[in-house]
Amino acid sequence: MIDGITGIHHITAMASDAARTDTFFTRMLGQRRVKKTVNFDAPEVYHLYYGDRVGTPGTVMTYFPFPDIGAARRGTGEVGHLAWAVREGALKDWARNHRGATQDTAFGENRLHLTGPDGEAFLLVESDSEVGQVWAETLDARMALRGFHSAGLRVADAGGMDDLLRLMGYAPLGTEGSVTRYQVGGNRASVIDLDIRPEMPIATAGAGSVHHIAFAVPDRAVQTEIRDSLIVAGYDVTPVIDRTYFHAIYFRTPGGILFEIATDEPGFEIDEPVATLGEALLLPDRHEPLRGHLEAFLPPL
Ligand code: ZN
Repeated sequence: MIDGITGIHHITAMASDAARTDTFFTRMLGQRRVKKTVNFDAPEVYHLYYGDRVGTPGTVMTYFPFPDIGAARRGTGEVGHLAWAVREGALKDWARNHRGATQDTAFGENRLHLTGPDGEAFLLVESDSEVGQVWAETLDARMALRGFHSAGLRVADAGGMDDLLRLMGYAPLGTEGSVTRYQVGGNRASVIDLDIRPEMPIATAGAGSVHHIAFAVPDRAVQTEIRDSLIVAGYDVTPVIDRTYFHAIYFRTPGGILFEIATDEPGFEIDEPVATLGEALLLPDRHEPLRGHLEAFLPPL
């Protein structure tokens, strides 16, 4: 078993409309935009990051808005839902603001189902799970999100994914219906729900699809050990890639979902102060010559 994975680091998805997604995350979910940059490989596309006050790993949702992206087909081989933790009792305030949103209970926890701007399945879960520093500039602190609670992985069969999650240090907690819940040590974005859905089609990526889910490790030394262990176990893992705010490795899982392992360091304060995180358009040095063009081309946020 691999030691050192602490839970979810970030989740990256695709959107159809940068401004609409930005409004949803900052106004409706009350998250802070902690970085406004571009897709380093395709700089005419934003890369937007939303999270807690400082972008603590375990709170960060990132988006690539592609204006021409088509609709997604939901199915297997993708992240099926994302869940944020809220304080016990917070859902009654959320439900008052979102009349018609479904509430239910799973694994003994109360949940509220929200739909994102591109049809994303988002959940708020009353839980004592907590990560990061609450950003309560938009919403009352009682309602504030307290980092990711969990993510749901939807696959056609369990075999390889169960093996992989166990290898990554996750232990099964129990099963309800088609979902088996796994948890890795601690209480910090530490839950994965594996949803076995052989009757569903294979997902097709589009607006609202998650591109990959990243798992957190403290530093590059642990990341290197994990990379070696994954390769020994037969996974085809990329070299370490410098993503400015963290270092990343990627591999495709047996269920078809792209996993990343990302370092907690150096974080989002590396290129701008906490007080103004996410306000300026930040470009890597190689794209600075494009600044004038990009500031005119990208929709204002
Ligand atoms: Zn990533």
